[in-house]
Amino acid sequence: MNQADSERLESAMNQLGLTNVEKPDSADVVVLNSCVVRQSAEDRVIGNLTRLAPLKRSKPDRVFALMGCMVGPKTDELHKAFPYVDVFMRPQEFDPLIDLISERKNIDKEGCIGILEAKPAIATHVPIIHGCDKFCTFCIIPYRRGREKSRSPGELVREAEMLVKRGVKEITLLGQNVDSYGHDLEGDIDLGDLFRDIDSVERLKRIRFLTSHPNDMSKHIIDSIAELDKVCEHINLPIQAGSDSVLYNMRRGYTRDQYLDKIDQIRQTIPNVSLSTDVIVGFCGESDKDFDETLDIIKSVRFDKVHAAVYSNRPGTIASRKFDNDIPDDVKKSRFVELENLQKKISTEINEGYLNRVEQVLVEEVKNNRAKGRSRNDKIVHFEGVESMVGEIVEVKIEKTGPWSLQGNIVSRVKVLSQVES
Ligand code: SF4
Repeated sequence: MNQADSERLESAMNQLGLTNVEKPDSADVVVLNSCVVRQSAEDRVIGNLTRLAPLKRSKPDRVFALMGCMVGPKTDELHKAFPYVDVFMRPQEFDPLIDLISERKNIDKEGCIGILEAKPAIATHVPIIHGCDKFCTFCIIPYRRGREKSRSPGELVREAEMLVKRGVKEITLLGQNVDSYGHDLEGDIDLGDLFRDIDSVERLKRIRFLTSHPNDMSKHIIDSIAELDKVCEHINLPIQAGSDSVLYNMRRGYTRDQYLDKIDQIRQTIPNVSLSTDVIVGFCGESDKDFDETLDIIKSVRFDKVHAAVYSNRPGTIASRKFDNDIPDDVKKSRFVELENLQKKISTEINEGYLNRVEQVLVEEVKNNRAKGRSRNDKIVHFEGVESMVGEIVEVKIEKTGPWSLQGNIVSRVKVLSQVES
């Protein structure tokens, strides 16, 4: 979500006539986009803010802005701690910075749209629903990003059309809980309906979506993924823990069996689907037995990828008020390493199954004749390529595999050229 916000702000800055520079000391405007999902992320932002202070002293008219989830209830404290920051912006609220820059450059911000187009990205993110209503006990997001608010399908289709005109080939529809899209809109609209609307955008090649919640991933959404050509067969379905008592304390709203039923339903409906998940290790009260149940579910589902995080207490969450953060750091760390090792073995084995298969890959970049792209089910694929392939879907025969990526060769250059020409 932060990456999407940064892309949107970048686009707005480009339209105001600003371009990217490599380093902050050559920038006129420095924006830090903050994440607070874990304490370490927040600490890193504070470290960066402190480190960048001399840049403001050396050039006082350089604009400093802090955006993202750190800005909110504690903004007054931030003002006091970092008086050299000119602008504080809540997530998706870019106006204060856009107003300041328009004023300094003496331009009309409405009139400047389209002055300078950003270099189009091939794959980009579009937030479709902001906030979250779930209030999982470990999570700070609902307090920082607010309650769920869906954007209208019409607005989203127009945005998708505009992005395609600027060269975008793949759109990832984003939400903290993307499956609950539409419940707050008039009419009976859900993510499956939105898939259909976006699928009809001409020249868009692929649609992805992040992040799902098992309770809101309905049959209609699953059927829509299976039916629609542009929607890629990859689902990130966070489980967070494999033990019912930990799931209960996390207030996730499902049991281990209900989660497994959902996985079965997905696999029966979408052949060849790839699955990833998020897991928190060392949540309050997690016993050895609880952790074994997490390992057990990882072994039985065999996810393609697991995003694991060690639990850290976030002040302001329900867990920080209700539970003791009682798992010692060394235990958390050894559980984390055990889980990562297990998953590395599973990812290696799953990816070995891709050997000699031909995958459709959307080429995202080519550097020094090495091309990189992703398959429909979200595997990173490396192969030899040329600049003109960027943005095209090419067929690559997989000849080498590893836990995190695949390597191969383009099957037919003729096919590639014909796609470029078309
Ligand atoms: S569903 Fe996700 S974003 Fe919402 S509270 Fe739970 S973990 Fe946080």
